Amino acid sequence: MSAATPDETPDLRALTLDEAQALAVSLGLPRFRGEQAWRWVHGKGATSWDEMTNIGADVRARLAAGARIGTLTLAEVQRSRDGTKKLRFTTRDGYSIESVLIPDGDKTTQCISSQVGCAVDCQFCATAKLGLTRNLDPGEIADQVYRARALLAAEEPDRRITNLVYMGMGEPLHNYDNVMRSLRILTSDLGVGLSQRRITVSTAGMVPRLEKLGAEDVRPNLAVSLNASNDRVRDEIMPINRKWNIGKLLAALRSYPLEHRRRVTFEYVLLAGVNDALADAAELAKLLRGFRCKVNIIPWNPHPEAPYERPSPGAIEAFQNECKRLGLPTYLRTPRGDDIDAACGQLANRSNGELLVPLRKRPVKAPALD
Ligand code: SAH
Repeated sequence: MSAATPDETPDLRALTLDEAQALAVSLGLPRFRGEQAWRWVHGKGATSWDEMTNIGADVRARLAAGARIGTLTLAEVQRSRDGTKKLRFTTRDGYSIESVLIPDGDKTTQCISSQVGCAVDCQFCATAKLGLTRNLDPGEIADQVYRARALLAAEEPDRRITNLVYMGMGEPLHNYDNVMRSLRILTSDLGVGLSQRRITVSTAGMVPRLEKLGAEDVRPNLAVSLNASNDRVRDEIMPINRKWNIGKLLAALRSYPLEHRRRVTFEYVLLAGVNDALADAAELAKLLRGFRCKVNIIPWNPHPEAPYERPSPGAIEAFQNECKRLGLPTYLRTPRGDDIDAACGQLANRSNGELLVPLRKRPVKAPALD
């Protein structure tokens, strides 16, 4: 089982359905026992063998001898005045990660993390200042959804998680295999059964992995953090651009097999005096002309770790109007949960404004992103 380290039993929560069935067989049990147990963990959010009431005690004991059920611990829930909730989890080895539940009318979007910290080093992002500690395994990625569902069931039983965005801590495509496995787990009908059309993976632009993603059978919506309209600015605010520049990124996206009526979303963090001039809007509109896309403008969400400012409301509006005037479909993303440090780019394990985990003193040298 690739999800386990050699010295421990596999985590049922990190296995795909096929793997759970194979595990049952390897324990001398029929395949369907693997499926039953998998449904309990991934469909019903079970956290112990005892809950699996349709499996006899003897079979449960055999399963328990060959596998474990990992869970994240919900360490804290912070509540925004706008209804957003920030969930902080601890992993089995003691690391903190965050996930955000964002209600929007009948919809509820969960923003999940894919790594403990991040290696990409975008200059405006608080998570970048944590550096990368490790990848989350597929079960840890999926379990954020199971724990959030349990919280909603207890607090707001009429609400369901309708949409999922991989926009929390980490660069999803840097943890490609585990993210893909989590997508297979979360879209399975025997689990929570989320439609891939309601899942969005956001990337800072790891070009070779984008190409790989285009060839997968499970293909979520795609969001790309563009954030600049030329390489000079993008090199400065997103060092990943020095490896894969805008030209390479757009070329990969042009050949990405988008399904009928789907568009790529470009995120554009608006930073005062850096990328918010009308000339930048014009350059952006020109760059994306003819692209099946839309642009989400995200006015910079403040945090103490970066030397930027959010543009004034007038400057934000002028930028958006210029994009629209030039024919670029543009939407303004209202900050959600910014009073609890839960908005885009603010996730850094803060509670009441205090950092719970110290930031790295010096920026870590980012591992080579391949
Ligand atoms: N690493 C992935 C997933 C994170 S998504 C990616 O880069 O796409 C987080 C989004 O928030 C990205 O679009 C990023 O550009 C944006 N962002 C980061 N810091 C921000 C900040 N302080 N204010 C507003 N948006 C920010």
